[in-house]
Amino acid sequence: MNSAEEKRTAQALAREIRTICAAAGRPMQFMEVCGTHTMAIHASGLKSLLPGNLRLVSGPGCPVCVTEKGFIDEAILIGRKYDASLVTFGDLVRVPGSFGSLTTFRAEGGRVTVVYSPMDAITRALQESPRPTVFLGVGFETTIPTVAATLQAAGLRGVDNLFVLPAFKTIHRPLQILAAKDDLHGFLLPGHVSAIIGAGSYEYLVQDFNKPGAVAGFDPLDILVALRDLSRMAAEGRPEILNDYRRVVRNDGNPVARAIMDEVFEPADAVWRGLGVIPGSGLALRGTFTRFDARKHLPVEVPVAKDDPRCLCAAILTGSTTPDKCGLFGKECTPEDPVGPCMVSSEGTCAAYHKYGVA
Ligand code: SF4
Repeated sequence: MNSAEEKRTAQALAREIRTICAAAGRPMQFMEVCGTHTMAIHASGLKSLLPGNLRLVSGPGCPVCVTEKGFIDEAILIGRKYDASLVTFGDLVRVPGSFGSLTTFRAEGGRVTVVYSPMDAITRALQESPRPTVFLGVGFETTIPTVAATLQAAGLRGVDNLFVLPAFKTIHRPLQILAAKDDLHGFLLPGHVSAIIGAGSYEYLVQDFNKPGAVAGFDPLDILVALRDLSRMAAEGRPEILNDYRRVVRNDGNPVARAIMDEVFEPADAVWRGLGVIPGSGLALRGTFTRFDARKHLPVEVPVAKDDPRCLCAAILTGSTTPDKCGLFGKECTPEDPVGPCMVSSEGTCAAYHKYGVA
């Protein structure tokens, strides 16, 4: 918050929230579904403005964090077996797998390139041709349409050495599981993902679970407005889905982006760290686009991966605990030497707690 006016507005919103929560007279717990919200909340120190009976917990919206360890293993095994060039977004390279991370694989001579856009994977594939080039497909509805558009472009250009290793996730199925938890009283809904799927797509939270949701932007004031609305709806027992990010999110989202996504991908089961296999919560390549499927064309045997039992990432991603309850936090597990993905990702809850302090 930069200006004096923004600070005054934030304090007024915080007062409203405190008044609502005091009148409610009971604890309320909301989940910030999105990792970008987690970071924004900690970076701005918003928690210090909230009353003691309003608690925020993290959800499964950090794509790197919910990606299972076996995916890193699979990528490295493909790289080794096929001398493939791996292309990925930056956060993934430091996530520990069973036999090292993508960073250690690169240090051992493996080919790993960090890109900022899926389209860069086409450039890389052309540079590497005929070597197989594998884009590591991690992300939610925000990212998936751009990957789909990349594969459409690759198809048109006849790029035949580009593949995708899919670990994409969609947000509604895990939310349906989490909404059934009695100790969650509302959801701060993700701004970026909602720009694609639409604020109207969350109505099941109200109809099936009697829980409110508020789509929020990422400025501190955006988040405070959404928390004020969630507090009021939860306190009054009158849940709705409110779109508090109207400058970006429409009720019907972005139908064009969804159409591109649907042309290239179809629903599939997905494994979520913390939630296990959730039917229909992931995406697989569809029809003629299966020609890009690394799992089909570059198969490897992936041993069952075991997470460090001391790492609480799985519980953190379902709002069941917080990083400060982990015995490794800030000791054996730091951003420089992470044990679990929640400490690696720029959207990870452990990384947020470590960078900005335990609120
Ligand atoms: S501090 Fe490290 S070990 Fe503990 S839950 Fe977070 S990522 Fe896992």
